[in-house]
Amino acid sequence: MNDKLNGTVALITGASSGIGAATARTLASQGAGVAVVARRKDRLDALVADIEQQGGTALAVEADITEQGQATRAVQETVDAYGRLDILVNNAGLMLLGPVVGADAGAWDRMIAVNVQGLLYTTDAALPHLLDAAQAAPRQVADIVNVSSLAGRRSFGGAGVYSLTKSGVNAFTESLRQEVTQRHVRVGVLEPGSVDTELASHNTAEIRDDMIDRYHDMETLAPEDVADSIAYMVTRPRHMAVNELLALPTEQV
Ligand code: NDP
Repeated sequence: MNDKLNGTVALITGASSGIGAATARTLASQGAGVAVVARRKDRLDALVADIEQQGGTALAVEADITEQGQATRAVQETVDAYGRLDILVNNAGLMLLGPVVGADAGAWDRMIAVNVQGLLYTTDAALPHLLDAAQAAPRQVADIVNVSSLAGRRSFGGAGVYSLTKSGVNAFTESLRQEVTQRHVRVGVLEPGSVDTELASHNTAEIRDDMIDRYHDMETLAPEDVADSIAYMVTRPRHMAVNELLALPTEQV
């Protein structure tokens, strides 16, 4: 527990599990009030109870960010509850793997909806509040961290559309960064390698088995490792912005 983020408010999408839940705990432990956003309300309620028990402040917001109205409401509920928004962590994501040949186009649509459209809707709703926070105490700087992936930098066979969404996130991040950085809204992209979460669980048994074969010997990252990287990005001094951070397990090639 430290007080680096005292007086600030963070909104984290995809906080019902994995990296998002760990990030909520970490930012709350550094003093931020955290709004945790996802569809599984029971998970969010349990997370909020846990953070509050540790002395933190948290708010559960049930929302499907692929619906623009729900993404906007999630931001508004946060600002209504806490009066401000300093940090947006665009973390919600979906990874459905498989070859392009013979693919289920519905899987492509679902990934694009969460990884791209959901991120855009949430960012759009949050930006006016972030621009205000960047002018105000306690920090006079605000942050957007977009959780991309190693797959946003390198394409892998069987991950074509996932890579498409994440490389798009990287491109959008840099463009938005150039637009708002002089108003002290830092926009950075974080690209994790393999992290032990539920992300792969939405795939077919065949693909899950293939991933287990590929990674079973490797010590992967824990969600807390990635949360720590996000905390690092958003606690730099006002004059320093971490625009890109690639965080891989040491053994990952
Ligand atoms: P999880 O599957 O544990 O978390 C995904 C989160 O996204 C869940 O909380 C889920 O909540 C939320 N989510 C999915 N769809 C929606 C939606 N429509 N609206 C709101 N929330 C939604 O996986 P991770 O923690 O691993 O994934 C977090 C991010 O990290 C993703 O962007 C992923 O691409 C990225 N990443 C993960 C890596 C890994 O190896 N695990 C590696 C590189 C990047 P709910 O279902 O309750 O809505």
